[in-house]
Amino acid sequence: MVIAVDGPAASGKGTLARRLAAHYGLPYLDTGLLYRMVARAMLDAGHDIRDAPAAAAIVGSFDQDAFPEERLRGREIGEAASVVAAMPAVRTGLLARQRHFAGQPGGAVLDGRDIGTVICPQASAKLFVTATPEVRAARRFKELTGRGEVVTQEAILADIRRRDARDSGRSDAPLKAADDAILLDTSALGIDEVLAAAIRIVESRRAG
Ligand code: C5P
Repeated sequence: MVIAVDGPAASGKGTLARRLAAHYGLPYLDTGLLYRMVARAMLDAGHDIRDAPAAAAIVGSFDQDAFPEERLRGREIGEAASVVAAMPAVRTGLLARQRHFAGQPGGAVLDGRDIGTVICPQASAKLFVTATPEVRAARRFKELTGRGEVVTQEAILADIRRRDARDSGRSDAPLKAADDAILLDTSALGIDEVLAAAIRIVESRRAG
């Protein structure tokens, strides 16, 4: 069983996908980390983040195990990841890794922006997780300040709006719900309620 969990930045999709994977005993891939790794490798090598040929070269050769997660989670990397994610060569270069992961015996849970639309269009269940920009900014603010970053909630809200516009407006695999995805608005829900709702959706898809 493949479960696709898509949605915008800080919508709660990562937490949900991880919990769903634990519930069903499936392996989990946070595909945003792949784009963050490409961005990290670009910045580490001193490239301009908009240098598409350099990104295309990096995506074919980077070592997925070379980046500890704490080097990928910062605010700057999220922004840089959304720049490289708009480059068709980067998306194409990351496609096989994601499909290979999804193709494991027994299935997998993947989260991202285009899992239900492009990576796994045949997924058994597709969830599109949303929350208002203000709720997402408050969650991301808590996460980043918890990690010691000095930011304001207003700046985070501006980041989120800019990232939404870039992710939704790009021509290649834009952020959008698949036609057969179920929308899950987490604005007013706690994680246990979100998980319960998601399990109900997955079970109804499996049954039907
Ligand atoms: O989900 P996360 O915030 O870690 O993703 C970072 C960036 O990577 C996103 O803003 C988006 O531009 C890009 N991304 C993508 N497709 C995915 C996962 C992430 O374009 N499947």
